Amino acid sequence: MLFMEIRRIYADHAATTPVTAHARDAMAPYLAMRFGNPSALYRTGRNARQALEDARGEIAASLGAATDEIFFTSCGTESDNWALKGLAAQNPARRHIITTAVEHHAVLRACDSLRRFGWEITVLPVNGEGRVDPESVRQALRDDTLLVSVMAANNEVGTIEPIAEIGQICRAAGVPFHTDAVQAAGHLPLDLKTLPVDLLSLSGHKFGAPKGIGALYVRRGLKIAPLLDGGGQEHGLRAGTENVAGAVGMAVALADAVNSIPAETARLSRLRDRLIDALCACGGVTLNGSISSRLAGNIHVSVEGASGSRLLAALDRRGIAVSAGSACSAGNGAPSHVLAAMGVPPERTACTLRLTLGACTTAEDVASLCRIVPEEVAKARK
Ligand code: PLP
Repeated sequence: MLFMEIRRIYADHAATTPVTAHARDAMAPYLAMRFGNPSALYRTGRNARQALEDARGEIAASLGAATDEIFFTSCGTESDNWALKGLAAQNPARRHIITTAVEHHAVLRACDSLRRFGWEITVLPVNGEGRVDPESVRQALRDDTLLVSVMAANNEVGTIEPIAEIGQICRAAGVPFHTDAVQAAGHLPLDLKTLPVDLLSLSGHKFGAPKGIGALYVRRGLKIAPLLDGGGQEHGLRAGTENVAGAVGMAVALADAVNSIPAETARLSRLRDRLIDALCACGGVTLNGSISSRLAGNIHVSVEGASGSRLLAALDRRGIAVSAGSACSAGNGAPSHVLAAMGVPPERTACTLRLTLGACTTAEDVASLCRIVPEEVAKARK
């Protein structure tokens, strides 16, 4: 809990993560003396340009990509929108897009937007664990399919999707494949030298970089139209003065996260399983999502007889930050589209709790969670 101002337990790493000390230190000069605009031609500008290009190279290396395949954006939402709308604008004759029912709204609402402009969207179902069947992708492909977009890992239930198999099917059909890797980058190995992915979205604040910086990987040779018009930044494809400090922080945070994937996956899976056992011991608790193909830090449960939002508030009063599922935390009360797509019955969707562990989670935190969460569940059921 080094990062927290007061003693709290943070168990919402899928929402955002604290900025690592390494990223903060690397960024500091670019928020102070090295503040130049990377498009400026004098030394301060040239230094900022150099830092930006070094960051691009480091991010490319962390993903097994080439430097000129990485484009900086402001967030995962922008990367997702740009991948879909940019490819659609570049290829207006190809009118069909395939995606899934469990994508983040950044993808689903970009698809809604394209539907209004005449694109036809096939939304693939998932099984009870939230997994897409690669065979369903093959069957949905058409001669006019523009793109297939399937997320690498789900933000609510943590299910890991079979993107390597789906990518192979797309490649064999000559159809570009986009993956929203916002929850996967820095947490799952992603090697674009071997992974058949053409467009990949990532967002810095999910792995220890600040909010407001993201990236889109675009495989060399694939053309997409810009989303923003303006200056000639990012090879004329993404106008707007670059977030140099953010890019520097994202490069450092991603490299550190990727290097620690093997150790962190083992450590967090152990802590996660301990917590799942403690929650299931309450009785009437069901784990949502896949058991075997799941992000190491994700716990998503339905707690029979308790309201998710009331549990969230009770845990908050005890210094614990968790999520009640994306819809509840947004306060709109609508059931989660992810759980609905998985066929979770309505009585199990209003009582969900998501705890996501990450780099700042300690064994002591999990010991406290194993004690406090069941206490609050028992109180909520009275
Ligand atoms: N895609 C997924 C899977 C996410 O989990 C999120 C954020 O939670 C996003 C996209 C949007 O990313 P950002 O918050 O950087 O816009």
